[in-house]
Amino acid sequence: MEKELLFSDLGVSEEILRAVEDMGYTHPSTIQIQSIPLLLEGKDVIGQAQTGTGKTASFAIPIIDQVDPSLNRPQALILCPTRELAVQVEGEIVKLSKYKRGISSTCIYGGESIDRQIKSLKKGVQIVVGTPGRIMDHMDRGTLKLDQVGIIVLDEADEMLDMGFREDIENILSNCPEERQTVFFSATMPKPIMDLTKKFQNNPEIVKVQRKELTVENITQVYYEVKQALKLELMSRLINLNQFALSVVFCNTKRVTDEVTEELMARGIMAEALHGDLSQAQRTKVMGKFRKGHVSVLVATDVAARGIDVDNVEAVFNFDLPLDEENYVHRIGRTGRAGKFGTAISFVTGRKDMFRLRDLEKFIKTSINKMSPPSVADLI
Ligand code: ADP
Ligand code: MG
Repeated sequence: MEKELLFSDLGVSEEILRAVEDMGYTHPSTIQIQSIPLLLEGKDVIGQAQTGTGKTASFAIPIIDQVDPSLNRPQALILCPTRELAVQVEGEIVKLSKYKRGISSTCIYGGESIDRQIKSLKKGVQIVVGTPGRIMDHMDRGTLKLDQVGIIVLDEADEMLDMGFREDIENILSNCPEERQTVFFSATMPKPIMDLTKKFQNNPEIVKVQRKELTVENITQVYYEVKQALKLELMSRLINLNQFALSVVFCNTKRVTDEVTEELMARGIMAEALHGDLSQAQRTKVMGKFRKGHVSVLVATDVAARGIDVDNVEAVFNFDLPLDEENYVHRIGRTGRAGKFGTAISFVTGRKDMFRLRDLEKFIKTSINKMSPPSVADLI
């Protein structure tokens, strides 16, 4: 088997290694493996991969490692199609730069008071994330100066073009210093994008991630030590906190499956049970609702979960630890499909569970990271 690559094999700093560990990223994703070293070398890159493959860290890590903390001027500019994406990207940058001293970032987008943005730009930031329209606005006002920008990233480039940002983008790119890195990330690479890259990139390296099936490296595996009586509370908090779109919860018995379903519903989480007592027609109906997102949590036993093939499952919970290793692998494989990321969260209650977890780790030859429960402060 090929050696599994780690973040430490990619040439990133010690501070980044600590940050990714805190974030629960055990392994870099394929697009990260392919693009981080190239970007650290200063190359122009075109990265093509579908959503959920980890494109953000692919450009955020090299940016954080390359900007000069002693120069308080914008050195990296990241363009995103929407305010939500810009906020998400900046959030990831904040987490990834947690251990770096003197690095700051800001997010600028339309629909928000420009004064706050002007203030934060005045303070001096190295990394600016924003939507094209508002970035142009700041350039025109002279509140954003691009003369020190050494790297510019177009995130979700295809979407930005679809939204009609072409002119703004060309304008921004033309106003950045010529000596710079230009990076495109996109799920698709239609002709208008290729035209843009020809015009603004210099000998770009193309990295592509094909749709691929499950590999456990796509799945972040963690566990919580929790008392039996608190499992439900913890699980509902984690579901709400992480805003998992679709999750599957595994229980070892039909009785627990029904109880957990009812308790989740009582907490306002749309859940349905899937177990062997259901007729084929009922099962099909439940699966249909889940696939469409009308139900966000599927609570299932192992037998019932055979063949659940829904691509967008973001999290799998082992409400009860599975009784054997094969089932563990089968369970967590309900997430992290089609090359996307997933999270597998196991609950460990008591010594017996702890031993079982250690056996699972031996079987999968990977350690499962211990997490501390979210604090009350995280909930508000
Ligand atoms: P994309 O931009 O390709 O849609 P994102 O960068 O938004 O993907 O990442 C998708 C999800 O995967 C995010 O929740 C992110 O925190 C997570 N993620 C990114 N890289 C890793 C990794 N190496 N290991 C585990 N999870 C990761
Ligand atoms: Mg993205």
